[in-house]
Amino acid sequence: MSYYTLQTVTHVHHWDDKLFSFRCTRDPALSFENGQFVLIGLMQHDRPLLRAYSFVSDNNDPELEFLSIKVPDGALTSQLQHLTVGDSLVVAKMAKGTLVLSDLKPGKRLFLLSTGTGLAPFVSILRGMALKTLFEEVVLVHGVRRASELAYAAELEAFSTQPGCFYYPTVTRESFRHQGRIPSLIQSGQLFKDLGIAPLNRETDRAMICGNSDMLAEVRSLLEAAGFQGSTGKGQCGDFLVEHAFAAQKKTGV
Ligand SMILES: Cc1cc2nc3c(=O)[nH]c(=O)nc-3n(C[C@H](O)[C@H](O)[C@H](O)COP(=O)(O)OP(=O)(O)OC[C@H]3O[C@@H](n4cnc5c(N)ncnc54)[C@H](O)[C@@H]3O)c2cc1C
Repeated sequence: MSYYTLQTVTHVHHWDDKLFSFRCTRDPALSFENGQFVLIGLMQHDRPLLRAYSFVSDNNDPELEFLSIKVPDGALTSQLQHLTVGDSLVVAKMAKGTLVLSDLKPGKRLFLLSTGTGLAPFVSILRGMALKTLFEEVVLVHGVRRASELAYAAELEAFSTQPGCFYYPTVTRESFRHQGRIPSLIQSGQLFKDLGIAPLNRETDRAMICGNSDMLAEVRSLLEAAGFQGSTGKGQCGDFLVEHAFAAQKKTGV
């Protein structure tokens, strides 16, 4: 029995020359928790070429949605970026990943800290119903190099108009209303000052982090220095959870 299904692309949206989103049909048997990822890809010479992708869509959405980088010489994305409505997409039958709300200890305020396509799982989590019952406040931080990479900004601005919901986009390589890397913004206190919220508190705050490895390592160190304990990823709940947004790393500067 095959470990994947063939789905059909229903919508494609290009944010800029480096990022695009797409939607496809969903096998009704595919179940996942918001925050997880699945292997998707294209058929190549009768074999699927697959890569890990975080779901952007809510688990109640009858379709699937993904946010993708365009790596010019990337084996998959050099082709995937040319997807059009009606094309076939390979989707594995089983979702994976531990970036899920059920692996966090109870808390009052949740920080969702992302760079680049690391935003994807957090859009899924924000679209889900569980978040609103678990936390009183949610702070979504998205770090990118250029403002054009702020995917889903309109949806996230709308989210931030709700009580207790904060959206903090930050840009590193051009002028923008918030600038700087996430670890620096936390360490300096600028993030909390700009949003008018209290600084980190291990008793009440929880965090989920997804992005490039430098940001993950630096934020992890900051949280551990403040007394936060990470989940071991073996079904043991933690004060924070970490997921790499991609496997092999280049210096991204965000
Ligand atoms: C758990 C997990 C979840 C992922 N979720 C997503 C997702 O939601 N969206 C997505 O676009 N990618 C995601 N990725 C990365 C994805 O699996 C592929 O690496 C990406 O699609 C590029 O594939 P490729 O074959 O074109 O190039 P690859 O050969 O896979 O990568 C080439 C190089 O491009 C860089 N790169 C790869 N992916 C990214 C990225 N997302 N952002 C910045 N640089 C990158 C890396 O330096 C890598 O060495 C995820 C990876 C993991 C491990």
